[in-house]
Amino acid sequence: MADREYGFRTRAIHAGNIPDPETGARALPVYQSTAFVFDDSADASARFALQKYGNIYARLANPTVASLEERVASLEGGLGAVATASGLSAQYITFASIVGAGDHIVASSSLYGGSITQLDVTLRRFGVDTTFVHSTDPADYAAAITDKTKAIFAETIANPSGEIADISGLADVAHAHDVPLIIDSTIATPYLNRPIEWGADIVTHSATKFLGGHGTTMGGLVVESGRFTYSREKFPLFHEPVHTYGGLQWAGNFGEYAFLTRLRAEQLRDIGPALSATSAQQLAQGIETLPFRMSAHVENAREVAAWLEADDRIESVYWAGLESHPHFERAQKYLPLGPSSVFSFVIKGGRAAGQALIESVNLASHVANIGDTKTLIIHPGSTTHAQLTEQQLEDAGVQPGLVRLSVGIEDAADIIYDLDQALSQAVEA
Ligand SMILES: *Cc1c(COP(=O)(O)O)cnc(C)c1O
Repeated sequence: MADREYGFRTRAIHAGNIPDPETGARALPVYQSTAFVFDDSADASARFALQKYGNIYARLANPTVASLEERVASLEGGLGAVATASGLSAQYITFASIVGAGDHIVASSSLYGGSITQLDVTLRRFGVDTTFVHSTDPADYAAAITDKTKAIFAETIANPSGEIADISGLADVAHAHDVPLIIDSTIATPYLNRPIEWGADIVTHSATKFLGGHGTTMGGLVVESGRFTYSREKFPLFHEPVHTYGGLQWAGNFGEYAFLTRLRAEQLRDIGPALSATSAQQLAQGIETLPFRMSAHVENAREVAAWLEADDRIESVYWAGLESHPHFERAQKYLPLGPSSVFSFVIKGGRAAGQALIESVNLASHVANIGDTKTLIIHPGSTTHAQLTEQQLEDAGVQPGLVRLSVGIEDAADIIYDLDQALSQAVEA
């Protein structure tokens, strides 16, 4: 763009989007087209053989989706990104690119419920074994690594426990064992933490949440640093001839782009979770205000968490911005602007009181989502985490009376007023 490195706010608005050269359209156009015209048959076969960059078919690439990819890669400080139809499909194609039957993943036990089932049900059925580590101590991850381990996976800020990953400690463990560190940074967003700056190799996002920010659009992203070398010993498929592409080799032909190229040319090709152009445009537009929304989310979370903690009707509050949280110091290190606005609290009176609270709110919405401008509330034990066993619930830090809040950007006083009246009703009930 210019002979200047633009700041985060500028890149949130401009990265990946220049005025359309054909029409002059200033906002990001929605290229709602599944296919793209080839110049001639030589051009067509060169694009198909990955010898020439160019759009072919929207399952693999689309110009509107490419703008979103470039924007998020820029904000995360990555080499590039691949967008998908949802956060879980972003994770799925990431795992499918680096593990196969017989391989092993070491993951945090405090993951989003759908991430736990993806690893524990579907990938396990495909012969990929996952060890879930019930701690955030990098030494415990190191102890779980076997000679079959191909990746370490954790969330920057775990949902709903509020635990903060020791990203640089995990990166050291991963790299000492020649495997990549994959961080799901959905709740942090690149505004609050950029895992690549702390040593992570791959960052995944559910763009459905804070990135899009308005609760309208599903999407996912995978961002890669380009720094990780996929060794021949651990990752032979990166080095063997790829017959479907004329015998080229991912590592040999694409260098630092090996993983990203494989994600697109192999995984989007074979699994197919392409993001639609319309969704990409919505998400890219949401990102334009990400810095402002995240500041407001954190500011409101700070007020609401402090108010809840001081209230007699509340047993505990798990927001890492509170000094009482076990990861307060770690949050100061990794998330100096604040640990986002998704957190949980336990109301006195257990499960019944928790459910009564959720049924008594007026302003907050009872939904299975987070990261919307609106304040959202849910009881994880009976919804998002209901498919987990008692043991998995305990390992993920989900107690019976736990209520999860995603603090929106309304007036903080109104959010507190709503919780106050709902707590009064819940305590009476
Ligand atoms: C929602 C979420 C996901 C899954 O994303 P989808 O877009 O719903 O597929 C993954 N990780 C975290 C932390 C989430 O909050």
